[in-house]
Amino acid sequence: MKIGELLKKGTFSISFEFFPPKTEEGERELFDTIKSLECLSPTFVSVTYGAGGSTRDRTKRVVERIHQQTHMTVMAHLTCIAHSREEIISILREYKEIGIENILALRGDLPANMPNFKPPDGACKHANELVRLIRSSFGEHFSVGVASYPEGHPESPNMEWEIRYFKKKVMEGADFSITQMFFINDYYYRFIDMCYKEGIDIPIIPGIMPITNFRQISKFASMCGATIPDDLIKRLEPHMDDQEETTKIGVEFAIKQCEDLLKNGVPGLHFYTLNKSRATLEIYQAIKDKVLALRSYLP
Ligand code: FAD
Repeated sequence: MKIGELLKKGTFSISFEFFPPKTEEGERELFDTIKSLECLSPTFVSVTYGAGGSTRDRTKRVVERIHQQTHMTVMAHLTCIAHSREEIISILREYKEIGIENILALRGDLPANMPNFKPPDGACKHANELVRLIRSSFGEHFSVGVASYPEGHPESPNMEWEIRYFKKKVMEGADFSITQMFFINDYYYRFIDMCYKEGIDIPIIPGIMPITNFRQISKFASMCGATIPDDLIKRLEPHMDDQEETTKIGVEFAIKQCEDLLKNGVPGLHFYTLNKSRATLEIYQAIKDKVLALRSYLP
């Protein structure tokens, strides 16, 4: 199923993001997580890609296993910064051959542990070039998603810049977008308003990160420029080493965040699962009635 087509028809989307584990044990655990989330009938699930190309085989293996062994629609993330155009085309051809129809087109970041790494000559330097390459080489075979940043990408000097280059990805043929995690919904609403004013009308699905480990999420958030509200930090800090209490506070916060987003007519919710199901299941359970009501309008 093409995600862009489902969204265009007005399907309310629920989706889960996973990363490809490094070990067999990790992959076994991931597939336990996938099994427990499959019963929520997500619209799609997605599998991340290591920007240096390090997960090329692992991402493909996990995507292929989900495609063959479950009933779920799966989207492969693909980053362009470390690949030549020929490599990108060959990766996409492999996905096409195994029946994958959805790609999240990303630039990626150069790997921090490879300071001398240089992108290959002619590599796509930005995600809009990757979207263009996918469209020119594969036409409409793939539904293409792109990333968006309600608080601005760390490299963007201001929100006008952010919107200008986001629009470029849409003009090149992106069907939908998933946002970076955010914890303050007003950033998302302001971003949507700015997009609307610029004539950007693709569905922009909010990315939800349930906080289950405060140190880890604080680090991610500061790297990607996502603000954690002060009152949430105040609640979480005293329980830094108490995973149970952190998860309780994180889940409670995410439930409120999702309820507010649902009230404000978002096209879907995308959960960053970090390959664990518990927090996502608890959040889903709390918002289930509202989600099911929206999903009952399935075309
Ligand atoms: P771009 O759209 O290229 O934007 C990057 C910066 O460049 C922005 O500041 C933008 O304004 C600017 N810009 C864009 N186009 C141009 C242009 N033509 N000229 C000048 N400036 C321009 N990373 C991974 O490594 N693997 C993943 O699987 C992964 N999945 C992600 C999923 C989601 C939902 C999100 C939100 C992010 C994900 N990322 C992933 C992170 C992403 O790769 C980084 O945020 C990266 O720094 C930017 O990628 P992009 O596709 O947004 O880049």
